[in-house]
Amino acid sequence: MKILITGGAGFIGSAVARALISEGADHLLVLDKLTYAGNLASLRAVAGDPRFSFEQADICDRPAVARAFAAFEPDVVMHLAAESHVDRSIDGPAAFIETNLVGTFAMLEAALDYWRGLDEDRARAFRFLHISTDEVFGALGETGLFTEETSYAPNSPYSASKAGSDHLVRAWRHTYGLPTIVTNCSNNYGPCQFPEKLIPLTIINAVEEKPLPVYGRGENIRDWLYVEDHAAALTLVARRGAVGETYNVGGRNEWRNIDVVEAICDLMDEFRPRRAGGHRDLIAFVEDRPGHDLRYAIDASKIERELGWRPLERFESGLAKTVRWYLDNPDWWRAIRSGAYRGERLGVVAAR
Ligand code: NAD
Repeated sequence: MKILITGGAGFIGSAVARALISEGADHLLVLDKLTYAGNLASLRAVAGDPRFSFEQADICDRPAVARAFAAFEPDVVMHLAAESHVDRSIDGPAAFIETNLVGTFAMLEAALDYWRGLDEDRARAFRFLHISTDEVFGALGETGLFTEETSYAPNSPYSASKAGSDHLVRAWRHTYGLPTIVTNCSNNYGPCQFPEKLIPLTIINAVEEKPLPVYGRGENIRDWLYVEDHAAALTLVARRGAVGETYNVGGRNEWRNIDVVEAICDLMDEFRPRRAGGHRDLIAFVEDRPGHDLRYAIDASKIERELGWRPLERFESGLAKTVRWYLDNPDWWRAIRSGAYRGERLGVVAAR
């Protein structure tokens, strides 16, 4: 299988690229604009593999996307490129509308043109997998789970732009017959996550003995999934998922933000004790995010039942692995802090 991954220099996309290369994919092309969130250092493990190619391009640039389809001739598209940080969407929603909506539209148009030109066998086998979030469903109260039937009720500019992109994908399936599949996943954590997100920010600030900011009183609940479990779900859906379906992906693993931060502090106390007291002393409650959704939780029984997927990582061990990874890879995040990661080069380009 030849797989085109958009956003493959990001947190989840790079985990998918690593998983596909180790699973024996024939050829991958990562197409990524390299925004602030794209980091070629996250692809170092696969960059030397002859089956791996990289192309720097904006998914909103329709001619560039069309050229990538024509040159690479993918069997599967895994569309992960997006603006992904809720706080940034509150401060500057325009980039979210542009990439998540206009960019997904450009991807669908290019995929449709390409798919219509394929011979019957390849057209039947082609898949466009759109990777989305559980945030499209809005907020839950203290009970209940999001299922594939839950109505969309996005609350932030980020989740609204992702909800819109999910609807575009659905429409291209229903209107034009493009063989699409959608996944909606809960919060991911693990290696190579940009240090603006809760878990890496907490770890890195703890290393640097800076305050550990927690919104409100830290009561918001998220369902956490280790990024490699998400990558495994996506490669499984790409191979065996049913066209036109959506699959919810989640860890059955709900944690209050404050409990996550305290768990990281306790791991830091174990791995790298501070001279002056425990890491919990660094926790600083800050003004809550506007419109902060109280609780997200996923019912993943459909993907478990129909495709046999199960998360392999327990949160306690996954979190310990993640803390270890950031402690063992300071070059990765220090290059982000200094801005030097923008100059990273892979030395590979798209095969023509
Ligand atoms: P990320 O921000 O780490 O990476 C996004 C990648 O997309 C970056 O490499 C960036 O350079 C690239 N990109 C952004 N705009 C682009 C454009 N216009 N053209 C080409 N490339 C562009 O994001 P992530 O956390 O890896 O999330 C990946 C996908 O998974 C997103 O679609 C996100 O909505 C979804 N998702 C994320 C989570 C999570 O917890 N992180 C959970 C569920 C779903």
